[in-house]
Amino acid sequence: MQTSRRSILKGSLLATMATGFASASLTANAAEKTAAPQKTYDLVICGLGIGGIVTAIRAAQDGLKPVILEKMGSAAGNTVYSAGFMLGVNTKMQQAKGLQTGDTVEKFYEDMMKVSQGRGDPALTRLVAEKADETLNWLHDYVGVQYNVGAKLVWPMLQRAHLTTGEQKPGGKQLMTYLLNKAKELNIPIVYNAKVVALLDNPKNGDVIGARVKTRKGFEEYLGKLGVVMATGGFSANKMMLTMMSGVPAANMPVRGSNTVTGESILLTGPYFPKVVNVDQYHCGPIHGPTGANPLNIVNTGIAVSKQTQRYTDEGKTYVQMARDTAALTKDNWGYMIVDEDTHNLPMLKNDWFSYESKKAPVYKADTIEGLAKEAGLDPVELKKIVDEYNAALQNGKLGELTPPNTHKNPRPILKAPFYAVPFQGGMTATFGGPLINTKGQVLDTEGRPIKGLYAVGNAAGGLFYDNYVGGAQLTSASVIGMAIADHMKALMQ
Ligand SMILES: Cc1cc2nc3c(=O)[nH]c(=O)nc-3n(C[C@H](O)[C@H](O)[C@H](O)COP(=O)(O)OP(=O)(O)OC[C@H]3O[C@@H](n4cnc5c(N)ncnc54)[C@H](O)[C@@H]3O)c2cc1C
Repeated sequence: MQTSRRSILKGSLLATMATGFASASLTANAAEKTAAPQKTYDLVICGLGIGGIVTAIRAAQDGLKPVILEKMGSAAGNTVYSAGFMLGVNTKMQQAKGLQTGDTVEKFYEDMMKVSQGRGDPALTRLVAEKADETLNWLHDYVGVQYNVGAKLVWPMLQRAHLTTGEQKPGGKQLMTYLLNKAKELNIPIVYNAKVVALLDNPKNGDVIGARVKTRKGFEEYLGKLGVVMATGGFSANKMMLTMMSGVPAANMPVRGSNTVTGESILLTGPYFPKVVNVDQYHCGPIHGPTGANPLNIVNTGIAVSKQTQRYTDEGKTYVQMARDTAALTKDNWGYMIVDEDTHNLPMLKNDWFSYESKKAPVYKADTIEGLAKEAGLDPVELKKIVDEYNAALQNGKLGELTPPNTHKNPRPILKAPFYAVPFQGGMTATFGGPLINTKGQVLDTEGRPIKGLYAVGNAAGGLFYDNYVGGAQLTSASVIGMAIADHMKALMQ
């Protein structure tokens, strides 16, 4: 099959960014000189995260021949860093446990729309809510994924959460192991150390028909009779894209997940002019960047001060907003949570302390507030003043009058020694923006028409998420869309 280099030649800012400011046409000229070997499959999947591998497994079940191209030596995206929560409202697993969740597809849809501030694409959101049960049942029955159900673990606490279980931690790593085992059983080829550097199109009609990859041996081309699926994740590890699209505070965040998700679904599809949406939106959470320790619940106790020993935000906010404010409102994206011994001993903080201890992250401790400030490198006089003001306001019911106010529903005093200071940063979890897709996973162009042969799934696609997400909805939606893409391609073959 003849392929066109036009897609490589079409210069755009983003395509130029993809080559690290090297001239896009120079790259193309070099490519003209050596004919890269070609291999043909039914579909070419770029990226080995949950979106990519679910698409591949479903395609193989549908009788298609997929290939997965992964730039690293193993699955290295956010999936293997994730907690492994997925969502369903009335799955076989829930039924087997006799759970009366009172949950419905409609409630799931409404929660997703609420959390996205009404900005999530309604058709995509409905697809995810409607197909979640079928998808989780399939992951359990066909793929062999094991879930723990029944716990009210993620908002809105409706027993919707399905936590992937097994020997490996975190759950996302175990999830990927189940999926890789199934892919192996189905003989799905996975080409590692194969970085997709360009898309290929048919010169006669412009359809996307393949991917050019850089391997250790040179360039190779993979052609997909039914098209190419971008499953390369978001751009949470691409500082330049974050600076340009999500802002400096986002770019200054250490990543909470993968360092290999660098925006290729936007960079490489640029020449086809997809409608790229929600690129200013991302999920973040607290982290001790240098070690990766996670103070998820600690940040919703006590008070937060900056290195300059000033309160900078309302500690009643969600952990997402606490992380966002720490990055945006402190000079250097560092905050210190100040708590006392009673708070320290709360059962819900056990995992957080373990995380700091096991990762050897510092937690400062002293018998006085002034002593604590000295340990942590804060101003002792200022910290004592802030803690005294906070305790007095708490006692007098005037926390709302502090600057900034504290609106915590269950505020805790800082009275009992010893006292603790926990350093943390706002950390980047995942970006939400990318080329807009329809319910078949087809990438839409700037005029809203499907770009033939071009698909996107998971964090590589845009449309579903805005502002925040219902915990578990990202892995779930990547699986739902992956199955939709494969089933759509199967229909094309018939
Ligand atoms: C700490 C943390 C906890 C989370 N917990 C949850 C949770 O419990 N539930 C939930 O729903 N979501 C969770 N998420 C979000 C979830 O992990 C992601 O939404 C999801 O894993 C994204 O999957 P993906 O298939 O889009 O991509 P990824 O898993 O990110 O995989 C993309 C893959 O593409 C590869 N790649 C990139 N560029 C190229 C290229 N040019 N060529 C070839 N390969 C390439 C990468 O190396 C990577 O292996 C969490 C995220 C983090 C960071």
